[in-house]
Amino acid sequence: MKNKHLSAVIFGPQGSGKGTQGTLLAERLNIPLIGAGELFRDEISEKSTLGNLVAQYVNQGLLVPDELVNAVMARHLKRVDLSHGFILDGYPRNVEQAEALDRILPINLAIQLKIDDTEVVRRLSGRMQCPKCKSVYHETEAPPVKKGICSLCGTPLIKREDDKEEVIKLRLQAYHYMTAPLAGYYRQRGVLLVINGEQPIHYVFEDIVKKISKLGFAV
Ligand SMILES: [Zn+2]
Repeated sequence: MKNKHLSAVIFGPQGSGKGTQGTLLAERLNIPLIGAGELFRDEISEKSTLGNLVAQYVNQGLLVPDELVNAVMARHLKRVDLSHGFILDGYPRNVEQAEALDRILPINLAIQLKIDDTEVVRRLSGRMQCPKCKSVYHETEAPPVKKGICSLCGTPLIKREDDKEEVIKLRLQAYHYMTAPLAGYYRQRGVLLVINGEQPIHYVFEDIVKKISKLGFAV
């Protein structure tokens, strides 16, 4: 079958660039990118019945149960036009959610952005932000002119809590435990596409486009 629509899931650890790649791909194919994080924030701010339930967990710092996550996603997916395809980012987070998604809306491709833990730590722990003008720097990739000082406004740079090495490592552990098993699940379904996420952004994108085109998707 040629030129079929892409109904995809994109996953990888934080720092793998999956948000960026999802955005680029959605633009290129002119299909919706559905970001679970954003969707949940919207649901909470709308104060819908489901949103209020989600908020109770989030406010206590608890993991939102799969049933609730699946219900929010199912409701949203019914409301958007998916007839030309779609990309999901941030959902499913684990195999149980992937099974639920298959019951609601079967996908035909799962893109895994593979990146080594040490590279994730290097990418994220080097980030620094200006607390005043919010400019973002990286110790090695995009350093400020003067070490530790914002090049734009001269304010001393800070490291966000999320970008501290211990926090990154904890998140990676959770990713390996919860989300990485999606690779096995989707491989068994015959829809897994593994992409080397350690290449520069531009190359990663070209790699994805080339490979999905070979698989017969309209790009
Ligand atoms: Zn600044």
